[in-house]
Amino acid sequence: MAGGTAEEAAPPSAGAPSDGVKPRPPSLLSPSRMGDLNRGRLLQSLFDLGPTSRADLARHIGVNRATITGIVQPLIDDGILVEGEPASSGGTGGKPARPLQFSRDAPQIGAVALSHGSVRTALVSWSGEITALERAEFPTDGGAPGQAVAAIAESLARTLSTARQPPLGIGVGATGMIDTDRGVIVKVNLAPVLSGLALGAVLEEQTGLPVYLDHHPRALLLADRWFGIGRSLRTFAVLYLSDVIGGALQLDGHLQSGPAGAGGELGHTFVQIDGEICACGRRGCWETVATIGWLRRQARAAGLAGAEEMTPALLAGQADAGSEAAGRLLDLYARNIAVGIANLQQTLAPNHFVLHGEVVEAGEPLRAAIEAHVSRLVPPRPGSDPRVLLTDQRGLATLRGAAGIVLSRRLQFQL
Ligand SMILES: [Zn+2]
Repeated sequence: MAGGTAEEAAPPSAGAPSDGVKPRPPSLLSPSRMGDLNRGRLLQSLFDLGPTSRADLARHIGVNRATITGIVQPLIDDGILVEGEPASSGGTGGKPARPLQFSRDAPQIGAVALSHGSVRTALVSWSGEITALERAEFPTDGGAPGQAVAAIAESLARTLSTARQPPLGIGVGATGMIDTDRGVIVKVNLAPVLSGLALGAVLEEQTGLPVYLDHHPRALLLADRWFGIGRSLRTFAVLYLSDVIGGALQLDGHLQSGPAGAGGELGHTFVQIDGEICACGRRGCWETVATIGWLRRQARAAGLAGAEEMTPALLAGQADAGSEAAGRLLDLYARNIAVGIANLQQTLAPNHFVLHGEVVEAGEPLRAAIEAHVSRLVPPRPGSDPRVLLTDQRGLATLRGAAGIVLSRRLQFQL
C-alpha cells in the first residue's frame, strides 16, 4: 500500500504526468505562489480550527508571521480567504486580530454522489455548505447507459447553472469498482448499466472542468476529514455499513488507496471459511453476516415484527421497548460488525472507526455495543485503543466527500 494516493504523492508542480496518470490541470495557484507544504498545512488548519488569526496560525503550524503573510496574501488575492470581523484583543491593548476564514465567494466545488439507480449533484462551499442540490433517477439495467448518462449530466447541469463562477472542479463519489486513474466506473453489481462507463471523460467534456472519481467509502472518509469528525484525526478508518459494506483508511494524514483506486473492499474480506455464499459469488465474506439483508433474514427467523422492512434503527427501537429477541439480534449484529473492525484493528491499528450508513441511525446503543465487542476481540496492548464513532455528516457525507476529493487533488495537500 503506497503512502497516499498518486495525486498526494505528486510534487507541487501539478500537471506533471506520473505513473501513467494523465496530466491534470495545474493547481489553483501558480507554482511561484504555491509555497509548499506550509500552504497545505495552513489550509488544513483553517478547516480544522475554523476562523483563525495569523498569530494563531503561525503558532499552530510552527512558522513565523512573515511566512504566514507570504502564504495568506495570495489566497486573499485569489478570493479563497477573507479577513473576518476583529476578535476581542483580550484586554491586552494590542491591535485586535482579524481572523482569517474561507470566503463565501470562493469558487465552489461541484459534487456528484452516484449510487445504483440515482444521482445527487450539488455545489459545496469551502466551509461545507451545500447549495443547488439536485437529484435524478435512472434505470439500472437494460443495455446502453444513455439514460443514466443523461440523468447524471442533466442533474449536474442544473446544479452548475447556479454557480456564480466556474467551480474548482467536479468530484464524484461512486459506488462499485472505480478506476481512479482513468475516471472509469469499472463494475457496479447493482447497476450493470454503469459498468464500463468513462464518466470522468464524459463530465469533463460536458463541463470543461477537471473531474475526479473515487470510491464511495473514500469519499465518506474525505467528508469526515475536511468537514467533520475526522478533522482532528490523523489516522482513522471509515466503515460504510448498510446493504453493502465498504471502508476507507487514512494513515498519518494520508488517504490510502491501491493502484488505480483498488482496495477498500472490506465487505468482501473473509470472516468465515466456507461460509454463506456472498453476492460476489465467494463464500464467507463479511457482507454475508453484517448487511441489512442479513439483518432482515435474521429478524424473519426470530419472528420479529416488521422483519421484511427491518433497519438497524427499527431493531434498536424494538430492543429499547423491551423485546428480548430484538435485543439478542441487535447484539449479534453488533458482534458481527465488530469482527470486521477487529480484523482491521489487528492489521493496521487505525484506532478510530467512524461509522456511516444505516447503522448510524440506530444511534448510541448500537455504537456502544459494537465498541464493547471490539474491545473483547482485540487484545489490549500499548498503542491499541479502538474507539467506534458515529459520523456527524449523515445524509450529506457523499456530497461533501466528493468535494473533498477535489480539494485533495487540486490543492495537493501534503500532510
Ligand atoms: Zn463477497
